[in-house]
Amino acid sequence: MSERSKNEEVNYSFKCPSCDKGKIKILKTIYDVPDGDKMLLIKFECNICNFSNNDVIPLTTNNTPGIMTLRVTNENDLKSKIYRSPVGKLEIPELEVFVVPGPSADFYYTNVEGILFRFENAVSIYRKNLEKEDNEIEKIDKILHDLHKAMKGEFKFTLIITDTGGGSYIIPEEESKYSFQKFEHKEM
Ligand SMILES: [Zn+2]
Repeated sequence: MSERSKNEEVNYSFKCPSCDKGKIKILKTIYDVPDGDKMLLIKFECNICNFSNNDVIPLTTNNTPGIMTLRVTNENDLKSKIYRSPVGKLEIPELEVFVVPGPSADFYYTNVEGILFRFENAVSIYRKNLEKEDNEIEKIDKILHDLHKAMKGEFKFTLIITDTGGGSYIIPEEESKYSFQKFEHKEM
């Protein structure tokens, strides 16, 4: 992927909002998305503390509605980048977890690891609120167990984004693991 992305580094001298001492470095990267679109990733990094932030701006959008599928089989795949538009549904069938379309900012722009982390957090909170004798606990514990394995790249799964409006992206680490299926008119 690296030879397909162009790095351009710009130094801005504004102060870090976190430590108030460091300067924020801005890294801009333009990505060519496999389906021909381009998007701009902006990374903010402090040169002293751990503060960093990401932002993403789609530069071109073909708005082709469809289903994006990524096979995740190892640790490297966890670095694949994900951008879910507000109309995109994101799901991992093997783990029985999903995000319904809507403005859930947490799931807008991240990578596969970030998606798993957010799911793990949500499922853990759900587990805590269950009664001790709830017979759902066993099932939830199995999901948590698999999620933890997935976060280490030891559980194979499929990440699917169904987008009826277009605009969502998956930027895979390994292109052979990504597929895109356009919606036919009858499915819309
Ligand atoms: Zn800082």
